[in-house]
Amino acid sequence: MRLIIMGAPGAGKGTQAPSIATHYGIPAISTGDIFRANVKQKTPLGLKVEAIMAAGDYVPDELTEQIVADRLDQDDAQSGFLLDGFPRTLHQVGALDDYLAERGHQLDAVLSLTVDTEALIQRLLKRAQIEGRADDSEETIRHRMDVYQQDTSPLIDDYRDRGLLIEVDGDGQIAEVSERIFAALSGVADAR
Ligand code: AMP
Repeated sequence: MRLIIMGAPGAGKGTQAPSIATHYGIPAISTGDIFRANVKQKTPLGLKVEAIMAAGDYVPDELTEQIVADRLDQDDAQSGFLLDGFPRTLHQVGALDDYLAERGHQLDAVLSLTVDTEALIQRLLKRAQIEGRADDSEETIRHRMDVYQQDTSPLIDDYRDRGLLIEVDGDGQIAEVSERIFAALSGVADAR
């Protein structure tokens, strides 16, 4: 299965991704996690992206696309993957399309978790207290929401037009949302 999980910051992508990935025996690949790990280890990539992330802005497309291509080239991603947090711009969509087309592969589905924006802001403020993420201050959270609305929400329409989009209500308990996701994805697995 080649899957993408999308949703505004705080919609629950990172919470849901590992169980979906385990279920299908594919790696969950989170660009945010890759960047955060590099920031923590102070790698050249980490030093480049630290300020961008702290401001809640997007890392440049070419850099992000290269990171993802390198990750998708690894052995464990050959039979499938779940991308979490990528693509986030139409440019990244094009790069992923090209990457897959060159290998004769295609996406199976794009999962979109929908949650009301104010509920998301409250979730993120709570997470900020628990995890102490540098990009979880209220101002940065609101900025990240705006960036998402402007740059990333158009991708939803694009994938819907291609018949790949599966929208799942992301409101509620983690287990409840998981159940909805697996119910929605079982149709995709059967159709393959
Ligand atoms: P996330 O954990 O997915 O919310 O990502 C945290 C931060 O990493 C984002 O706010 C961006 O600064 C950066 N980031 C993650 N994925 C991407 C991407 N696909 N394109 C650009 N920046 C990204």
